[in-house]
Amino acid sequence: MNATDSATKTGPILTITDLERSYGRGDRARPALRGVSLTVRPGEWVAVVGPSGCGKSTLLHLVGGLDTPDAGSIRIGGDEVTTLSAGRRALLRRRTVGFVFQNYNLVPHLNVAANVELGLRVAGVGRRAAKERAAEVLAAVDLTDLAHALPATLSGGQQQRVAIARAVATRPALVLADEPTGALDTTASRRVVELLREEHRRGQTLIMVTHDYAVAAAADRVIFLRDGRIIDERRPAGHSLAGAHEASTDAADTRATGTDAAADDLGDEAAGARSARGDNDLNDLLGLGSW
Ligand code: ADP
Repeated sequence: MNATDSATKTGPILTITDLERSYGRGDRARPALRGVSLTVRPGEWVAVVGPSGCGKSTLLHLVGGLDTPDAGSIRIGGDEVTTLSAGRRALLRRRTVGFVFQNYNLVPHLNVAANVELGLRVAGVGRRAAKERAAEVLAAVDLTDLAHALPATLSGGQQQRVAIARAVATRPALVLADEPTGALDTTASRRVVELLREEHRRGQTLIMVTHDYAVAAAADRVIFLRDGRIIDERRPAGHSLAGAHEASTDAADTRATGTDAAADDLGDEAAGARSARGDNDLNDLLGLGSW
């Protein structure tokens, strides 16, 4: 157990305050985040949505310690990430944060099992324990049969499942997922969301950037980002699988009955077609109006 583990038992796992980040200098400086504040409780699943370029990835990278803000505070458990030395930030990242990148970021010359083991080894887990844990998480994502395959021989959905297995293998306090279903077809997306939901049920805290409203609606909370600011936040009604059987597959009904249907009919063709319509549909669905 580390300091973060004990701190998260009592308070928020993540507290972001007045976060600012600009890219470029002088006249060319363009703000990517303009004062973002957000608190996330242990075990919460938060989706971050918004148009392309609104700052979603920047936010995730800052929280994960991959980038540093110009101003503001990020506390993960008891640790102020922004003032840690590079070495300590790397340590916190390895021990506390699991990343699921949109492009998977698997090591191409390592097989599936070795990719997952690598993450564990980097986090300080011994060789034998890493092998055992990798086998366990790969079984959980139904990839035991492909443990010795190279990433290039896998489908996008399978690679994304490896990336999720790698991210959760160390049981990090926080999993950050950047468009985890962005490159996937509807069936593969559904599988990935089911996996994330399973981790969420086990108490994993998840922060997920997505452009897909059906995926966002599976979260506990949806944060709307625009032009580097949080402009609204919604709690999708009924975001568990419980309503799956009642869910209508009709687009109009989905709008009328709320986001639970959207989350639960993720696999149907109508959901795919609706997702393709983009951010404003998510907005309509969650009742925000035009933005
Ligand atoms: P999103 O993930 O919502 O699409 P990003 O966080 O990637 O948005 O980007 C927010 C803004 O910051 C955009 O205008 C983008 O061009 C800019 N930006 C992001 N990363 C960099 C970078 N490394 N260098 C310069 N500009 C960047």
